[in-house]
Amino acid sequence: MPRPAPEVFERLLRRVDVPAWQADPPSRPTSGVHEAFTGEHLADVPLATAEDVTDAFARARAAQVAWAARPVRERAAVLTRFADLVHVHRDALLDLVQAETGKNRASALEEVIDCFLNARFYAARGPRWLAPRRVTPMLPVVTRARVEAMPRGVVGVITPWNYPLSLAMTDALAALLAGNAIVMKPATLTPFSALAGVELFDRAGLPRDLWQVVPGSGREVGGAIVESCDYLMFTGSSATGAELAGRMASRLVPFSAELGGKNPLIIGPGVDLARVADIAVRACFASAGQLCMSIERIYVDAGSYDDFCRLFAERVRAMRVAPGYDWGPEMGCLVSADQLAVVEEHIADAVARGARVLAGGRRRPDLGPTFHEPTVLVDVPANALAFSEETFGPVVSVSPVASLEEAVERANDSVYGLLASVFCATDAEGAAVASRLRTGMVVVNEGYAPAWASLGGPSGGMGRSGVGYRHGREGLLTYTHQRTIATQARWLSLDAPPFVERDRWPEVLERASNLLRYLPGR
Ligand code: ADP
Repeated sequence: MPRPAPEVFERLLRRVDVPAWQADPPSRPTSGVHEAFTGEHLADVPLATAEDVTDAFARARAAQVAWAARPVRERAAVLTRFADLVHVHRDALLDLVQAETGKNRASALEEVIDCFLNARFYAARGPRWLAPRRVTPMLPVVTRARVEAMPRGVVGVITPWNYPLSLAMTDALAALLAGNAIVMKPATLTPFSALAGVELFDRAGLPRDLWQVVPGSGREVGGAIVESCDYLMFTGSSATGAELAGRMASRLVPFSAELGGKNPLIIGPGVDLARVADIAVRACFASAGQLCMSIERIYVDAGSYDDFCRLFAERVRAMRVAPGYDWGPEMGCLVSADQLAVVEEHIADAVARGARVLAGGRRRPDLGPTFHEPTVLVDVPANALAFSEETFGPVVSVSPVASLEEAVERANDSVYGLLASVFCATDAEGAAVASRLRTGMVVVNEGYAPAWASLGGPSGGMGRSGVGYRHGREGLLTYTHQRTIATQARWLSLDAPPFVERDRWPEVLERASNLLRYLPGR
């Protein structure tokens, strides 16, 4: 089976920003990276120390000053060149993402597309959003007020293993455009996709020190980033996100976090069930369900429940699950034995509590060490792990509901609030249901992709699904501090002029402010 050659990993390791290890490899312990499909060893990455992170911040801080001084159009041009390079090197990136994660090629393509769409979008729109803007001044004519978007400084980016390319690139490129430097810790299981993306940024003309990649453990390297950064973008589990939020709060440094989800899909009466079953396969099992936006709960109108279960189970049983770097497989494997263990635990727990397995349900060691069948569960009680906790694997529970009202209630009955998907007889009905859901994103008539790829709109979770936004104007300006600069006309001081008695001046000011209400927008 073709996979990236050893020279690819050797070349990418030169992009690791741990100079002490580059000079003397035995100076740092390493961690093995394995091909997920087979478990075979690919390469070793160094585990940096907290001091390496401190050094990386010093280099990034020095580089950031010159970068922020460059015109925003020049910074945007680097993003455009990066997008072009992603397009040219698409196949090499797909091979790397697949090798590290074990996802099928179509799921890996989502990452590549996400990178070039985001880079092109921000390169085109970002400069306008970052430009200084005039705002309502204290007094017309005599005060001018404008807001400037100041870069935060050095942004810490901590990324997970499930979308190792797009989650490493897309937040960072927004932060770079806004004039920041980056210190990044990729997940230990999947550092090479991030390194490949950063290498393309180098080739696109990004100054070398501006983006430091420091692999290592969450506790030591991630912890050191949390202690030093001027803003943190974290993507990962809700438990780690909550811990890091506490530490960022105690430093009074802002952050965003994109965390877990237990995303519902609602099927109302009168929809084309075969079509929804096809879409649900993608929505539930892309990246083998290891996607914070994938669907793990389906609520179906009781009148359609039996038909949908039959169609969906047939479709899931027919899915092509296999290793491979070609476009054939519909699903690959899980990223690690730990993730496989969670999937098996959730299924066993649900079955022990009375659930039935309608499709799948078993691991597939014949295909590779971490393969598991896509699995559909029914009759899952609310206290089962598979119902209440994020599985982050290819497992979905289907339940009947008596009405759309009940579907909305049950969909909202979750500590998470990332994304929901809605299928109704009409778009208007779908939109009405969407507005009642307590999630940061809702898609009508599809899985997660239309919301995720609507780059102009913010993407972010509610509740335990996260804080803040990526994408859109919000996802760019979050990497800036908004500074108001008010310039007062020199000829009008706010002190009392000589012809007004000092004691009467407050009253004159109060009357003058009262007159401001006759101006538009006051
Ligand atoms: P996952 O289940 O996706 O591994 P985690 O939240 O554990 O979710 O990990 C996401 C990222 O956060 C990884 O890069 C991981 O190394 C890092 N990480 C884990 N624990 C910590 C921590 N205590 N401090 C900083 N980073 C951490």
